[in-house]
Amino acid sequence: MTCRSCGRETPEGAFCTWCGARQDADPGGPAARRFAASPGETVISPSVLTTLLPHLGGRGVREYRWAFGAGLVLLVGLYLLGFISAALTVAAVLVPVIYVMYLYEARVYRDAPVPVLLATIGGGILVGIVLTLLVDPLIAANPIFVDGVRGPVIDVTALLLATVLVPVVQEIVKPIPALVLRGRPEFGHSIDGLVFGVAAGLGFVMAETVIHYWPAISRMPIQQNPGAWIIPLLSVAILVPLVNASATGLVTAAIWRLGRRPVTRLAAGAILAAVVGHVAFTLGSMLLISFSLHAIFVVLWQVIVMVALLVAVRIVLDTTLHEEAVEEGLLQTTCANCGASVLASGFCPECGVAMPATAHISNPIAAASGDVAPGGAR
Ligand SMILES: [Zn+2]
Ligand SMILES: [Zn+2]
Repeated sequence: MTCRSCGRETPEGAFCTWCGARQDADPGGPAARRFAASPGETVISPSVLTTLLPHLGGRGVREYRWAFGAGLVLLVGLYLLGFISAALTVAAVLVPVIYVMYLYEARVYRDAPVPVLLATIGGGILVGIVLTLLVDPLIAANPIFVDGVRGPVIDVTALLLATVLVPVVQEIVKPIPALVLRGRPEFGHSIDGLVFGVAAGLGFVMAETVIHYWPAISRMPIQQNPGAWIIPLLSVAILVPLVNASATGLVTAAIWRLGRRPVTRLAAGAILAAVVGHVAFTLGSMLLISFSLHAIFVVLWQVIVMVALLVAVRIVLDTTLHEEAVEEGLLQTTCANCGASVLASGFCPECGVAMPATAHISNPIAAASGDVAPGGAR
């Protein structure tokens, strides 16, 4: 049949395998663009899980939502009991642990789990330790708030060092471990670069958090009044890792594309979004703190930046999935998202998901018949 959108010959189905356009939809209907990695959502809906764990295809999202929710319940429970050290530890590892579960379940690493985990989470941790230990003394020697004639004032140089220069350097350094995997033929898609960058960013931020909060993690007694800790805890558990992971994912996804194509506006925009987003997060938070506003405003600002970065990741991911869809060539395969046996290139003709954004199962036929859970180990 001929696609109503791109005009190419495509296998029978509800979606065009080349451009992902729905074939049975009303052509005059609302044209909110579907997100290629999760066709049930639009590109601009800021869902954390389908954005940063794109191989779930929108279907495996629920169990991860439960895992994340359970982690948060544990964190809040420890906080209420005054166990701030334990709560900080949970906050530092929660998102990275969930991400390792995802890498395993979706087999994003194909048949090379050890090199991939070492290069991404492991490399991120290593880089995070080294950079944080180098940068922290520098920041400590240049306090942002100094004594003025009428109380504390901001030292602009110190402010720019801590909230602009350091985040920019971090965005240069964080992606490096994941980039080791670039060029391996099995990781040819931009979505691989994105996921590996996210993992490296999470490793980095986990190391940074543990180092920054080490005095509290290692020897803080049980707190009778833990009230002041809830906002830092939630920031450390959710906002800081998601912002760092999104930014690094944007940079690696952009670099993944270079070489195979000329430098595109998309790649440049992705890197710019990562750097601007990270600087906005740190600089904006510090300025709000300096105005002595309630911490809730700092959190609100951080949530706004996080959502903006997630949408940027979705736009980059959706665009690259569409661009790379025509490079594949038709292949008889089983869609890990819907289980249908299909002749497909970029998009599943049955459910419309982008094929590179589905779990990489070693035996798709067995998985579809229920012998092996999709994404399960061999
Ligand atoms: Zn088409
Ligand atoms: Zn499908």
